[in-house]
Amino acid sequence: EAKDAGRNRARVYLPEQYRHAVQRVSVVTRVRRALDENRMGLDAQPIVDLATGQVVSHELLVRLRDGAEPVLSPAEFLPTVERDDLIGDLDRWVVATATAALAEPGATRAGLRFDINISARSLESPGFGDWVVRTLRAAGIAADRLGLEVTETAAITNVAAVRHLADALRDAGCRLSLDDFGAGFGSFAYLKHLPFSTVKIAGDFVRQADHGGADPVLIDAVVRAAHGLGMSTVAESVERAALVPALRALGVDAGQGYHLGRPVPLDELSRRTSRAWQDTVVVPTVVRQSP
Ligand code: C2E
Ligand code: MG
Ligand code: MG
Ligand code: MG
Repeated sequence: EAKDAGRNRARVYLPEQYRHAVQRVSVVTRVRRALDENRMGLDAQPIVDLATGQVVSHELLVRLRDGAEPVLSPAEFLPTVERDDLIGDLDRWVVATATAALAEPGATRAGLRFDINISARSLESPGFGDWVVRTLRAAGIAADRLGLEVTETAAITNVAAVRHLADALRDAGCRLSLDDFGAGFGSFAYLKHLPFSTVKIAGDFVRQADHGGADPVLIDAVVRAAHGLGMSTVAESVERAALVPALRALGVDAGQGYHLGRPVPLDELSRRTSRAWQDTVVVPTVVRQSP
């Protein structure tokens, strides 16, 4: 840090609070500019059926990839953006970008599905669910190809809002997942009162699920409750191969994590999908032409 200050630059010591305000302004400004210039990034990470190994969906994860190094992950800019109205713009940008990617011919042909994360702010915004449904309809996309994820923490403080959103989405046929279940207070009462399609089990329970102890017992309880209520289950943070048979034995439907697939830029997934589609169309012609 002393080196960064440089010989010619005055060293300015800011009071802690002021420095935080400055950092907040610059992150908000960067995100706003990146949204305006369409330079926010989304990574896509597969969600895999543990019984068949098939990719059932991809979760889209936002990145601030605006050319400045390093690329910022959501943990580094979301808390600041969430204190600003900008979070609503960001959530809508993710919906619009996901919709555009789902509408591409290769993606439609492959039956690609996406799950996106939405903030507590959008959850509370009364027209949000209906707007998502209208956006999908306008693009001609089957509603079950997009799912929304809300964290347990956001859901707990906004039960009425989640119910409203869940009803709008369910009526239209969109999926709704309860994200990071168990990372907060993990109350089963929310499962009873809210029509989620899927419960995502927080990584903290999953990482040691093959080692005995409390975690497999708790996962077993979550899976029984979810299945009994007609919801499916996804285990987060599946980081090691040995977790797959352990989770399967516990009845977990699907998994997500570095062992099953790292997040890749959405553009790359779109290119891959469209190439696979073109290959299936083009290859027979090429084969016929070869001597
Ligand atoms: P999340 O929805 O629970 O997303 C899963 C996080 O776990 C992602 O971090 C992902 O990269 C990471 N992850 C995936 N596999 C593994 C693994 O095997 N081990 C470990 N340790 N981590 C793994 P990421 O991308 O940094 O996102 C963090 C959180 O930021 C997300 O948690 C979500 O709550 C929020 N978020 C991400 N994208 C968006 C977005 O577009 N909009 C909003 N509102 N929130 C977002
Ligand atoms: Mg999520
Ligand atoms: Mg999660
Ligand atoms: Mg999380």
